[in-house]
Amino acid sequence: MRVLIISDIHANLPALEAVLRDARRDGGIDAVWNLGDCVGYGPHPGECIARLRELDALWVAGNHERACTGAMGTEDFNADAAAAAQWTKDRLTEEEKAFLDALPEVLEEGSGQAHSLNAGASEGAEGDRSSKAAASAFTMVHGTLRWPIWEYLYSHEAALGHLRLQRSPFGLVGHTHVPMVVVEDARAPQGCELYRLGDGESVELSADHRLVINPGSVGQPRDGDARAAYAVYDSEAAAVTLHRVEYRIPDTQRRMAEERLPHWLIERLALGR
Ligand code: ZN
Repeated sequence: MRVLIISDIHANLPALEAVLRDARRDGGIDAVWNLGDCVGYGPHPGECIARLRELDALWVAGNHERACTGAMGTEDFNADAAAAAQWTKDRLTEEEKAFLDALPEVLEEGSGQAHSLNAGASEGAEGDRSSKAAASAFTMVHGTLRWPIWEYLYSHEAALGHLRLQRSPFGLVGHTHVPMVVVEDARAPQGCELYRLGDGESVELSADHRLVINPGSVGQPRDGDARAAYAVYDSEAAAVTLHRVEYRIPDTQRRMAEERLPHWLIERLALGR
């Protein structure tokens, strides 16, 4: 099975379409897991929601889903983000808002198999089978398990706080817009290691280390690379691979300018910041 893992689409339809095309060309996709912030900032909120619903995506809510329906205030947003949230709120239908409001903040996929990881580790002979089974046990959350829609997982401290609450071997987060992997390691001075993930880099899933993976942002990357980011989980290979793909940034920018969305939100797409 190949699963497309995406996050922070931020209503950027050209970026989402480029990711879907690229992932399909590269071996096809059997499922889509979306880690939140489908809306906010960008000019295509309804189109992006419809696309993901068509694909029957598993989906956890981010802070922008909550802000764009009015379920949560925008006091903690900067002025540009608040303006874009208001613009989005004025355009979403009541049905779309109800759909977004019903999204969970945490999802566990195949978490029943996390248990067999523990059993296998203690029984030794079971190890091989359980390490394969464990490869399908993921917890999805936009920020961290400590503060699901708000906390940025940038630091060792945030990573450990998250890992303490993660029951499955593998976690998937978004929110920072920076592709990254956290590897839990009791021997490391800070209890875990954080690594940036570049285009084409793979993370092997094994029973040896618990992990947290961030696939970066489809629609508003912030790691200095303006290309859309996404990841693919390949269950046969027991690995998650990060990908970057170019999309027509000016198409999104033009639409944003027509809608008079904040200038910096338009500009930053070309900078990847
Ligand atoms: Zn975001």
